[in-house]
Amino acid sequence: NAKAKGRNCFEFFNDKIQQAAERTAQVHLHLKNAISNNEFELFYQPIVNPFTGQIIKAEVLLRWLHDGQFISPEEFIPIAEESGLIVQIGEWVRTQAVVCAIELQQRQLPLPLSINVSTIEFWSNELQQRFLNYFDSIQQQFDLTVFPYELLTLEITESLMMKQQSNINLLLEELRRRGLNISVDDFGTGYSSLSYLVNFPVDQIKIDKSFIKKIAQGERHKAIIEAIVSMSRALDLSVIAEGVETQAELDFIKEQQIDAVQGYYFYKPMPKNDFLTLLAEQQNKLSDFT
Ligand code: C2E
Ligand code: MG
Ligand code: MG
Ligand code: MG
Repeated sequence: NAKAKGRNCFEFFNDKIQQAAERTAQVHLHLKNAISNNEFELFYQPIVNPFTGQIIKAEVLLRWLHDGQFISPEEFIPIAEESGLIVQIGEWVRTQAVVCAIELQQRQLPLPLSINVSTIEFWSNELQQRFLNYFDSIQQQFDLTVFPYELLTLEITESLMMKQQSNINLLLEELRRRGLNISVDDFGTGYSSLSYLVNFPVDQIKIDKSFIKKIAQGERHKAIIEAIVSMSRALDLSVIAEGVETQAELDFIKEQQIDAVQGYYFYKPMPKNDFLTLLAEQQNKLSDFT
């Protein structure tokens, strides 16, 4: 009987593994056509000044609607990375983000946009060159006399810094020379040996939402955030707190004098039109005062 039970258990896990593999294969198959089928859309999540609530920048977040079903980036980005599709997808995202940045400029609502970049896109020298060249090709495609580098931030993760390759350093230096800002996303979730932060040319860190969630659990968890903030200050890096959902979390963030906040407490990611409307409203309110 125990034998039969073990066997069932084995079959159960075997089925689960097979189902997961089939799902991955399906997602991969459809992902290949997602760009040409117009299934991607960018959402925008405002990042605000925690003291005034004013929108100071926004993160660009990719959305995929396939057959009327929303598939989370948490699921499809890893599949895109494994298959290499992430390179084309990343380029699509950056084109759309630049189009939006220019549109904002034209409407007199210039606002920096923050774009996620997969470490896979920096994997080889060829890919790094392709990454740089792509900005030039967008510039040509839209016949831009100036490229809005100053309005763009690239969000990279700690795993990139772990690679400790001097050519990645050079790439980041070149991007910053052009006016782009570099932000370290999900800070604290990797094995961030803090010394990497000293050696890498970055401007900003985003404290991962897992740390923000733990604020409610007490002083020891708060101490971690305090340490991250004081280290960032010493290194002259700006700080964004990600995933702020409650008043208590916001209060602590303000106590820490953190520059910027992103989270459902203020705004969820939203479609472009809603985002443009929101910015226009904010602009009107501000001009009422002057
Ligand atoms: P991320 O870059 O850390 O983005 C922040 C994620 O946290 C987003 O999830 C956002 O919707 C979510 N978030 C923001 N505020 C809150 C909050 O208050 N509470 C909670 N629970 N969540 C909040 P999303 O849009 O599902 O994206 C997940 C991840 O997928 C991103 O994490 C990023 O790593 C990746 N991703 C999204 N778009 C792109 C893209 O265009 N390119 C690449 N390479 N990766 C992307
Ligand atoms: Mg991000
Ligand atoms: Mg993040
Ligand atoms: Mg994250």
